[in-house]
This record gives sequence, structure tokens and C-alpha cells, in this order.
Amino acid sequence: MGDQQTQTEMADPEPEAWVPEPEPEPEPELSQPAGATCCWLCLTDAPALVRGCACRGSAGFVHVSCLVTAATHDPATWIRCPTCKQDFYGELRRGLATARWELAAALAEGSTERLAAQAAMLESQGRFLEAVPLFEEVLARDRAKLGDEHSETLTSVYTLAVLHSMNDEKEKALCLAKEALAGRRRTLGDDDVSTLSSMSLVGILHITLEQYDAALPLCFEVLQGRRRVLGEEHISTQDSVNDLAVLYNDKGEPEKAIPLYQQAVIHCRRLLGNTHPNTLRAIQNLGEATCSTGPAGLQVLA
Ligand SMILES: [Zn+2]
Ligand SMILES: [Zn+2]
Repeated sequence: MGDQQTQTEMADPEPEAWVPEPEPEPEPELSQPAGATCCWLCLTDAPALVRGCACRGSAGFVHVSCLVTAATHDPATWIRCPTCKQDFYGELRRGLATARWELAAALAEGSTERLAAQAAMLESQGRFLEAVPLFEEVLARDRAKLGDEHSETLTSVYTLAVLHSMNDEKEKALCLAKEALAGRRRTLGDDDVSTLSSMSLVGILHITLEQYDAALPLCFEVLQGRRRVLGEEHISTQDSVNDLAVLYNDKGEPEKAIPLYQQAVIHCRRLLGNTHPNTLRAIQNLGEATCSTGPAGLQVLA
């Protein structure tokens, strides 16, 4: 029980927060595009094109330097793709965090942007324990300056919740995730992608704490919401399918988990490729759930 892996922690679509790694690395062929592929910002095929979001086809390739320029005009671009609304991950995420820190390092010691950029840089390198006190300081300043329900404050609350989760501080994480969810429901509405990310995190934390009755309605709600807002073919929607399957499997109902895992595997293969970590995890989850049901389950795969 409780040993299968949720997907949302790997590639959450939180629009503003710096969601911790481990996250999927871009597949090698995706960071070395060939032919007519070009950057969606500068429209050139200059070297060092990368991708690190849910955009597919040639749409997702971009230069880190072009995104840095865009982020100086719209700070949300430091974190998420304006097209697919997914947080950047992998090489692109690290590149942006490094560039943000290089710019912020020249700011006055103790400035909030310098602090936030340093925290984001540490987080992008997987240094979660070091990042926590910096994010706590950013959150305290946000609360004092902006109030508890400001969007930036709620982003800081959510970010800290994710970090605590990554550091295995589940109860601390759940408390903050609930605060972010309640605040975003009130200020942004139930269908906002940020609200849905908070909802997903609360659901996952309940699963990991084996609080299945609390997790179930949230996992359903986030899946339905992402279907409405992002569509069935969005990787975050499929993350939610996987999370619901994990919930069913962990609470001892693998027969309900199996068809959901099958769906997640099919979509992950199409959206991410056969060797992406999320695809491999979905396949592993499907295999384990199937084996746990004995011969009847194995017939499902036949
Ligand atoms: Zn470019
Ligand atoms: Zn995108």
C-alpha cells in the first residue's frame, strides 16, 4: 500500500510556483531538433534550442535567452509556458533559474527578488532543504507586504508546500497546501490552473498519508477540472488520471486502478514518448496493479 508514485510531483503545471525536481529530463532527440525547427520567440534556428513544457511538435522549442528577455517583461515566464500553462522543467527550468539568479545577484543584499531568485536557483538544483528557509522568508515578506490572499503570497504558500513534500514533511506540506487551495478557490475560482494545482497537491498528500476518503473527492475534482480547462490530451490531465489510479490501487481496489493506468500509459506514450520517466512510471504502476490482482488482472493485459 502507498508505494506507487503520483505523477503530479514530477511535472506539476503550477503556473507561478517553482515546483521542485526530480522532474523529467527532455529526451535527447527533443533537445537536438533537426530541420525546420525554430524558437517560438525569435523564430530562428540558432543553436541551443531546448524544450521543457507540454507543447509538442515544433511549438515547444525555444532559446533560454529568449525566455529570459520575455521574463523581464512578464515575470510569470520565469516559471511557466504561456501557451500550454505547464511549468518548465529540466534543462530549460534550470537555465531560467540560473539566468534569474545571475540577474538578481547584482541586486541589494536582502532584496526580496534576490532572495526569491536564490531560492528558485537552489530548488532547480534539487537543493530543497537549503531552499526552504529562503522560501519561508519570501513567504513571511509576502504576508506582511501583500496580505494572506494575494496571488503572490498564495504562490509562495504553494511553493513551500511542495518543498516540504519533497523533504518528506507531509503534515507541514498538507497544512500549507490546504491554505493555498482555500485561498485560490476564493480569489481565482475552482477552474483556475493554479487552484487545480493546489487541489492536486492536497489530494496527493492525503494519498501519501493514507487518508483515502479525504483524497478521493479532490482527485475526482482535479481530474474533471483539468479535463475542462486543459483538455484530455494535456499531460497534467493524464497526471491526474495516474494519481486517481494510485489512490484506487493504494486503497486496495486495483481493479479500478488498472483501466486508469492503461489510459495514462496510452496518453503518456503519445504525449511524452516511450522512454519518458512519466511513461515508464505509468507502465510500472500498471504492471504492479495488474500483478496484484492475480490471473484475473493479467487477463486485462492480454
Ligand atoms: Zn529564440
Ligand atoms: Zn508549452
